[in-house]
Amino acid sequence: MTKKYYELTPDERLAFLNLNESIRNELHENQSANNAQIIENYISDFRVPMGVLKDIIVNGRHVSVPMATEEPSVIAAANNGARLLNGGDGISVRLPERTAMIGQILFTGCPFHEIEHYVAAHQEAFFKTARQAKPSIYKRGGGLLSIKARQVSNDEVSVDFEVDTKDAMGANIVNTILEAEAPLFSHFESHILGAILTNYATSQCVTVTGYVPVELLGGLQVAEKIVALNQFSKHDSYRATTENKGLFNGISSVVLATGNDWRAVEASGHAFASQYGTYQSLTTWRIQDNKLFGQLSLPISVGTVGGVISAMPQARNALRIIDIASADELRGVILAVGLAQNLAALKAIASGGIQRGHMRMQYRALALQVGALPEELELLVSQLNKLEHVDATIASRLLMEMRK
Ligand code: NDP
Repeated sequence: MTKKYYELTPDERLAFLNLNESIRNELHENQSANNAQIIENYISDFRVPMGVLKDIIVNGRHVSVPMATEEPSVIAAANNGARLLNGGDGISVRLPERTAMIGQILFTGCPFHEIEHYVAAHQEAFFKTARQAKPSIYKRGGGLLSIKARQVSNDEVSVDFEVDTKDAMGANIVNTILEAEAPLFSHFESHILGAILTNYATSQCVTVTGYVPVELLGGLQVAEKIVALNQFSKHDSYRATTENKGLFNGISSVVLATGNDWRAVEASGHAFASQYGTYQSLTTWRIQDNKLFGQLSLPISVGTVGGVISAMPQARNALRIIDIASADELRGVILAVGLAQNLAALKAIASGGIQRGHMRMQYRALALQVGALPEELELLVSQLNKLEHVDATIASRLLMEMRK
């Protein structure tokens, strides 16, 4: 009997792809038995560079933060922004009293008040069912916190379950509890559309703040321009999209390095950025007493255990570098990096544009792209740095000249 593709070994799967031997060998060299167990149809690892934000002060503690990203200049900018914020008092983190993941049971074609009444009358049964569905999360001090009916439209209702999932991101924990709760709504069975967590993590909304003395920015004028740029992104979705993309350069790099689900964090962030009906920047900057104050609020669901975090040594190592004890602490660190990243980008634009610094960082990637060997990189990059205009043809020509 022939095997299905998913039943093959990674090398057998590679053999089915239209590849020459050298590429097949390269992919084979990058296989790891561990990661082969994590996803389906595994063929090889895909490596992303990981660097470090060396020092950012978060709630008075000096933290080093690993960042995994393919984009040159992100980590340099993060270090820059952190240095500026460290020149204030570093970053302060405000967390909700208890962070919780939300799960939804979705109803259609049913009056809101009927479900609202039913939910209010059966609270005890919901709490008992949650405890039976996932006893281990109760042993860890978590579990169901609240159940509320929420009117979505004239005939759509969501029953929202808030679950404290402790140090796990909690998607599976919440879905397990929801699937046990759904049968309790048998009375409304024909109206149930489904039961699933929401990634809009509003019960885990974290706020970070920090400030920079304006002299560290090069004067009041730069600070004022940063505030004006930030205001612009409160009014223009085009600017806001780019400002938030820059913010996620920092946030997603840490989320990825720690083995967390960056799609969940980004989806939640973009929904939050639209909470007032238009898409806006997630950060807010203002000037007071000759200081530039920044604030970032974001609903963020991440974990320090569970999912693939415990299964991926690189994620465990990244968490060791940050050296935190809980998912709540990780939330604060991730947002702190986001605020630093956003500040660095705004400062670069306010001080005359990001392109110059940005392109310098890209030259190493460009040098590799045109075939420079590791020992040729420094010289080629330094020569490119001296030029006004640089592109792949110029880099390639310089490399050829260097080799003569
Ligand atoms: P898990 O299913 O791995 O659950 C976490 C487990 O970690 C718990 O069951 C618990 O096991 C164990 N654990 C150990 N220590 C702790 C602690 N201190 N606090 C809490 N739990 C602890 O993962 P999650 O529920 O976190 O789900 C995350 C995964 O789900 C991610 O990979 C995500 O990508 C994926 N996912 C995401 C979805 C989405 O975002 N829409 C949808 C579905 C999945 P025990 O207590 O039993 O020992």
